[in-house]
Amino acid sequence: MFSSIRIRLTFSHLVVIVLAMSLSGILLLSFLEDYFAQATEDSLIAQARITAQALIPEVILAGPVIEAQSSLSNAIQQQQVSNLSLQTENVDFPLSGAEQFDSNDLADASLQLGAQLETRIRILDTQGLVLMDSWKSDLDKDFSSDPVVALAMAGEYASWVDGAGKDSVMYLAMPAFVNKNLVGVIYLSQPMRDVIRVLGDLRTRLWISTAIAVVFSAIVGLMFSGAITRPLGRLTAAASTIAQGYFDQQLHIRSRDELGTLGRAFDDMTARLQAARKMQVDFVANVSHELRTPLTSIKGMVETLRGGAVDDHEVRDDFLETIDTETDRLVRLVNDLLLLSQIDSQALNLQCESLDLGELIHSIVTNFQHLAESKGLSISTKVHSEAPLVWADPDRIEQVLINLLDNACKYSPSRGTIIVGVDIKDDQFVQVQVHDEGTGILAQDLPKIGQRFFRTDDARSRSQGGSGLGLAIVKSLVEAHGGIFWLESQEGEGTVASFTLPIV
Ligand code: ADP
Repeated sequence: MFSSIRIRLTFSHLVVIVLAMSLSGILLLSFLEDYFAQATEDSLIAQARITAQALIPEVILAGPVIEAQSSLSNAIQQQQVSNLSLQTENVDFPLSGAEQFDSNDLADASLQLGAQLETRIRILDTQGLVLMDSWKSDLDKDFSSDPVVALAMAGEYASWVDGAGKDSVMYLAMPAFVNKNLVGVIYLSQPMRDVIRVLGDLRTRLWISTAIAVVFSAIVGLMFSGAITRPLGRLTAAASTIAQGYFDQQLHIRSRDELGTLGRAFDDMTARLQAARKMQVDFVANVSHELRTPLTSIKGMVETLRGGAVDDHEVRDDFLETIDTETDRLVRLVNDLLLLSQIDSQALNLQCESLDLGELIHSIVTNFQHLAESKGLSISTKVHSEAPLVWADPDRIEQVLINLLDNACKYSPSRGTIIVGVDIKDDQFVQVQVHDEGTGILAQDLPKIGQRFFRTDDARSRSQGGSGLGLAIVKSLVEAHGGIFWLESQEGEGTVASFTLPIV
């Protein structure tokens, strides 16, 4: 069950909610418990002081001094305290100048203090005997062995919560002094059941709100995690379909979040895979086509020769010449394919060095002079006088220039001019241009130039020995050197083939 991201996300969401709610509940309850205990103690202290003061005005009680209006006294406690004041005021007190709490003096007061108060107030003498009890039941009872009273009899303030839960009771004893002499002890007790009940109520409500929060977060968590895992499910399904060879998978996830980015990357990847697959299929078809034509022609001629044509010397020489040409064409084609595969697999291993382009161009143009002249073409060079050295592999750049010059000669009519120029493009690159006044290329074909096996005029190009790989090789070799290659052409006016190479 936990192997599902959806369940794990929802579960972790719930764990966080439950932990947060429980922790805040525990902190709140313990804070309130302390708060109520302190408030009860403050209330008892205030009541003790008012009682003692009413009995003997000059009495001093040892222990914390609490204002009746202190921040910890809540409205109920204040009411209790003021009730107590009223009741003690009606009694024939104070006993001014008394040396000790006395049972005779306090007999009437005990009746008055038997109020509706929750607090039980006992006035003890210095021996721990009850002189007065607001509940009127413990008169003369000896509390000297009670630890809280014993501490008070020794002159110290003491408080203590006894019991647990609803039965817990807070006890508080304060020694009373007149002229620094102990005159008795004010001993108070108050049940904590109200506090415990409020806390119990709060605890129940906290549990209920935690349960409601858990149910809601489970629903919201499942909805949110579903929104995350649904696209992942589609992605997984699409990926396995691709693994089976079907690349036409598009997810079209529109969200702007990370999943949207992943979906768009996936769509982009499948589109590229499709394009690569198409290129691969086209490539194999093109290669087979290019190989089949010369092979069929060679096979036909060999069969004709075997069938007796070998005895006709003129036909035989003619056939052998054609077989030779076709074989050369095949060798060229295979070499071109090998080179392209080397470039594709990045196994070209360029031997770059500082190269003087002017010198290289001059020697290549010299070699082309004969071919150009035979077609009535003139070739010239135009090298910038300050053209810097470039960082390139001489053999590969020679091949680039040969391919471009070969095209310029092939697609130029007689009496055209071919110019090979070298110029400084910027402080990083040198630009080489092969300019001809040939047939030019249609604007619609220009973007396809450089694609493998692309020829603007199949029949004409093939009859001139072209396979449509020359410019693909040029483009790949120039790019392998870090340069760029492009063509500009006007149909019927000529073509400018340009490429850049990095300066040393
Ligand atoms: P090919 O070996 O067939 O010449 P290329 O890759 O060298 O193959 O050229 C691709 C096509 O681009 C050619 O078939 C030709 O139609 C066109 N082309 C290339 N260079 C020129 C040029 N200088 N003038 C006109 N057309 C050109």
